[in-house]
Amino acid sequence: MKVKRQYSVKLERSELQPFMDLALVREKDYLEFSRSIVFHLLEDDERIPAVLRLLDGRKYGTYDTAAFSDEDLEAADHLALGFSWLNGYPQPDGDGASDYQRITYDPEGLCEGCGIYGKQITPFRLRLPPKWGRRKMFSLNWIFDEMFVETSYYEARFRPLGLEARDVVHHKSGDIIPTVKQIDLPDVDFGFQMDTSKGEICKVCGTPRYHPNVVDYLPPLNGDASTYPVFRANTYFGDGMNSFRKIVISSDVFSMLKDDKVRALYFHPIKNA
Ligand SMILES: [Zn+2]
Repeated sequence: MKVKRQYSVKLERSELQPFMDLALVREKDYLEFSRSIVFHLLEDDERIPAVLRLLDGRKYGTYDTAAFSDEDLEAADHLALGFSWLNGYPQPDGDGASDYQRITYDPEGLCEGCGIYGKQITPFRLRLPPKWGRRKMFSLNWIFDEMFVETSYYEARFRPLGLEARDVVHHKSGDIIPTVKQIDLPDVDFGFQMDTSKGEICKVCGTPRYHPNVVDYLPPLNGDASTYPVFRANTYFGDGMNSFRKIVISSDVFSMLKDDKVRALYFHPIKNA
């Protein structure tokens, strides 16, 4: 694991050359609307001293994430699963996220303090059937702990693992969309061994919640995950009115997704217990 730092730097186009000389950006990477550039460096990049000299006296911001090698991912017994294809917004979305939440989840379970929601009571509704192309899985904007799978891929790969699925509905017509299934993720009663001193307790429901950007391995699971190929871990992350759990997969499911070359996914390894 290495820390990958994103730099956002304010500058004029005429000042770009020294950054191009270090191969940090190309001419076309200049962001006209914000008069800035963005680039990433791993923590052991030899250019860092030169970059810091260039940044001296300039306005810039940084944001760190964890970067994992293929070996790191393969060595993990469990990994959290993320989606880079967010296929639109759950419907209805006229007044923002509260609209779909009101009809999709049991309103009794919604916390007005942190946005934790209750059990799902109706199918998700999409504006349009998914345009799969060569992709197999997606999630939706606002939603970090649900996964949607192309129906034939679900039947071939996830149903044999014992995972049930829900129908997904075309919002306008109310018809079931035959090409997509939502995995009915098992909710387990264990999560990650978080440093509780870093949690923030919701004043309304009392649930601890953690910063979503974990710049490290995720902490070990604090329960027996051996019988679950895919599940939702019982630790909340988020901020404001956005709270979510993480979808966790076993190393076998990770290998399956790699072997099948499923696109638009990312993986965050969990420290082995
Ligand atoms: Zn709450």
